This record gives sequence, C-alpha cells and structure tokens, in this order.
Amino acid sequence: MTTAHSSAESNPFVQMKHRLDKAAGLLDLDPGLYAILSEPAQELTTALPVQMDNGTTRVFTGYRVQHSVARGPAKGGIRYAPDVHLDEVRALAAWMTWKCAVVNVPFGGGKGGVICDPRRMSQGELERLTRRYASSLLDIIGPERDVPAPDMNTNEQIMAWFMDTYSMHARSTQTAIVTGKPIGLGGSKGRREATGLGVAFSAREALKHIGLADKGCSVVVQGCGNVGGLGAQFMQEMGHKVIAISDIYGAVHNQNGLDILGVLKYIGEKGSLQGYTEADHIAGKDLLELECDVLIPAATENQLTSANADRIKTKVIVEGANGPTTADADAIFESKGIYVVPDILANAGGVTVSYFEWVQDRMGYFWEQKDVFDRMERIMVEAFDSVATTAEKYKTSPRIGAYCLGVDRVAYCLKMRGIYA
Ligand code: NAD
Repeated sequence: MTTAHSSAESNPFVQMKHRLDKAAGLLDLDPGLYAILSEPAQELTTALPVQMDNGTTRVFTGYRVQHSVARGPAKGGIRYAPDVHLDEVRALAAWMTWKCAVVNVPFGGGKGGVICDPRRMSQGELERLTRRYASSLLDIIGPERDVPAPDMNTNEQIMAWFMDTYSMHARSTQTAIVTGKPIGLGGSKGRREATGLGVAFSAREALKHIGLADKGCSVVVQGCGNVGGLGAQFMQEMGHKVIAISDIYGAVHNQNGLDILGVLKYIGEKGSLQGYTEADHIAGKDLLELECDVLIPAATENQLTSANADRIKTKVIVEGANGPTTADADAIFESKGIYVVPDILANAGGVTVSYFEWVQDRMGYFWEQKDVFDRMERIMVEAFDSVATTAEKYKTSPRIGAYCLGVDRVAYCLKMRGIYA
C-alpha cells in the first residue's frame, strides 16, 4: 500500500536540496561552495496594488528569486498561479541555475511568481498587474542582471508588457530584458516550440540510449500547454503514438493514438479538453498510471511521488515540467528500472532558445528558424551525452548525473571568480 506523500516531500526546495546534497557528496564539493549554492543569492517579496475592473484595489504578492549569478545574468520564467509560494520559486530558481549549466549557456538561475488566478482576471487587470510587478523589480533586473521569461500562465503578451514597462523607465527600447517575446517585437523564431521540441529530442536520445525503437512507441503526456501540447505534437511527428493527454480539468485517452493536432485545435478554440468527443475521458490522475513506453509529465511539480510511483507503468519518463518527480519517487523508479530524463536536461530546450533570443536582441540580427532548431538540437544532444557520461562516471542516476554536471560547472566559476571581500 502506498502512503500519501509528506509535506517535506511536496516542498520543491527541500526536494531540490536532496538532489544537491547527493551531487555535492559525489563531487566532494567544498563546504563553503556548498553553503553558497544551497541558498538563493537574492530574493525579493513585493506587494502589488492593482486597480481591478470593478474599481476596487487588490494587493497581490509577487516574488523574484535569484539563486545564482556566478555564470552570468539570472535567467528564469515568471509564473502566475494561485498556489505560487516562496519555496516553489526558490526551487525553480535553483533548477534554472543547474539547467543553464547543464546546457552550458552563460546564465545563472532566477525565477519569479505572482500569487493570482489569471483565469479569473481580465486582460486589463493582467496588464496592470504585470506592469506593477515589472516596476517593482526594476532595481534587480536588466539584460545584464536578470532576464525573465514566460512560465505557467504567462505568455508573449505578458512579456511584451513587461518589456515595455522596463523600456519606459530606461527611456529606450530594451528588448533583451525578457525572452519569450512576440517575434515582431524582438522574439526569436522557434522560441514558442523550443521546450516541446527539446523534450522530444530528449525522448529520442533516451530511447536510443536504452535501446528502444525510434518509432511507434506509446506516449502519455500530462499537460497540454506550451510544453506538453507541443511536446506531444513533436513526438507524433517523430512517428510515435500519443495515446493520452491531459489538462488541469481531465484527460483524454485512445489506445490507438489520439489525433494530437485535432486535440490542440479543440483546446485552442474551447480553452480545455472538456467536451472533446473523439476519445475516451479519464481522470487526470489515472493518466499517469497508464501503461506506455514514454511518460511526459509536462504540467507542474509533485505529480510522481511516493503515493503513486509504484503504480507507474512506463519505460522512460521525460520531465517536461520542472520538479514533477519527488526524491522518494526517484528511488522507486530506479528500483523499477525506469529511465528518467530529469527536468534540468529534458526541458532545457526552452532556455537554450531564450539564450539565442537574448543574443539576437543584443546583436540586433535575427536568425532563421532552421538555424535556431539546428543549434538547439546540437546543444541538447551534447548535454544528453554529457549527463549520461557523468552519470556513468559517478555510478549514479541520470538525474544526479545532471546535478553533478551542473553543480560542478557552477562551482568552477565560483572558484575561479573567488570571494569578493
Ligand atoms: P502552460 O500554462 O502553457 O500549460 C500548463 C498545462 O498544464 C495546461 O494544459 C494546464 O491545464 C495543465 N495543468 C496545470 N496543472 C495541472 C495539473 N495539476 N494536472 C494536470 N494538468 C495540469 O505551462 P507550460 O509553459 O507548458 O509549463 C508547464 C511546465 O513546464 C511547468 O512546470 C513549467 O515550469 C515547465 N517549463 C516550461 C517552459 C516553457 O518554455 N514554457 C520551459 C521549461 C519548463
């Protein structure tokens, strides 16, 4: 019988530290460097008064955490959700530090969040909230300091408002202040697709690595937003069969394979999977337990825990979401022989193309989509191989291998820079 997971198990920052501790042990990391890397370098909590459409004023809470700037400006998305909390933002910021180091792009790690329910807010309210949040962060962000991007429930429009607010204060257009912008406004071709495509590249490399077929595998995807929806589409384009996909309201299943483009078109028009008639509806939590070759959690944290890990029947897990698997579940998957491509590798295609966007903005010269995808693929394949080699070297899992690779690269920069007194 499984037990419900504990509150420590559902705290993403505690979970991040479990993995950091393991990697630090294997690397024999200097205790001083460990002390620096185990806590955020800087964090800001801010009250955001916003005038609502009905004339009342509401005060939202916003956060920005910079975990490390040792390798370059902090980089990381902004999340709008009712359940955002500081330990979640801290964990997401630290994961960005390790992720940027794993794909070797010159950024540190940061993350932001605002406690709000964007589904219950008008466009006007979201714009006023975003502008107030951006102006509250002015002292700590900048193209050379901290570069935000979209995350759950934030999108190109929100990045455009954020960029405009920063630019109004800078008295000049500063496109490199955020990534994930509209293409006509300094965005990069291919950024929208980048995370989902990177997830599909990671799945392809994992299937090759463990000797499974490169076509015809059954795939289950949790979440059909930017990462899950496009990840599912690219897996289908690679010749696999997506048998189930979910959103926050529920899941659809067809053992013979879903028409993913049809599903995505339906969601685009109706806003959710509810009422979709071309497949069977199942509960979201049951989707995770379907038998399949590849499971892609691409929604949110803490989906694969000690409470359900022993019922997961897949051969490979490719983490599209950040933090979908807890450390207790890791141990169960290892004992079952499930190959896990960890978040800090699997979903790094997004930050890789964000890096390209930042480079293009600073050059003022924009690349073709093919160049973007080719360069991202090269980086993802190299990162996959480096993680696999590091895991072999330390006789550990791909997750801890990825942490060893990332932590070692950040520790190297800290050591070379020295401690400013
Ligand atoms: P999104 O808002 O576009 O989509 C999220 C999807 O997950 C939606 O379909 C939503 O209905 C579903 N969802 C949310 N909570 C759920 C739940 N409890 N159960 C089932 N479905 C649920 O967000 P996104 O950008 O696709 O991000 C998804 C995950 O990927 C997050 O963990 C995010 O941090 C991570 N990520 C995103 C990017 C990016 O470029 N967008 C990059 C790296 C990692």
